[in-house]
Amino acid sequence: MATKKTITRFGTRYGRTIRERLATIEAGYRGKHKCPYCSYNDVTRKAAGIWECTKCATKFTSRAYQLTKPTAVKREQATEE
Ligand SMILES: [Zn+2]
Repeated sequence: MATKKTITRFGTRYGRTIRERLATIEAGYRGKHKCPYCSYNDVTRKAAGIWECTKCATKFTSRAYQLTKPTAVKREQATEE
């Protein structure tokens, strides 16, 4: 079993399971992600469902806490053109 990164900012509050669940969700949206438009690894989450690439300045929607698979975005892009 993989060890989960514990969130320490809540101390012992709210229960271990909830804190662990939050850790997995936060790991999914924090940091840099791959841009579906220019493939550069610098997409950050602006708000719930809103993502922005700092390289090509594209702002697009995806899931609230994680980016969808690039194939789904590509299909969406193809219908626009
Ligand atoms: Zn980009």
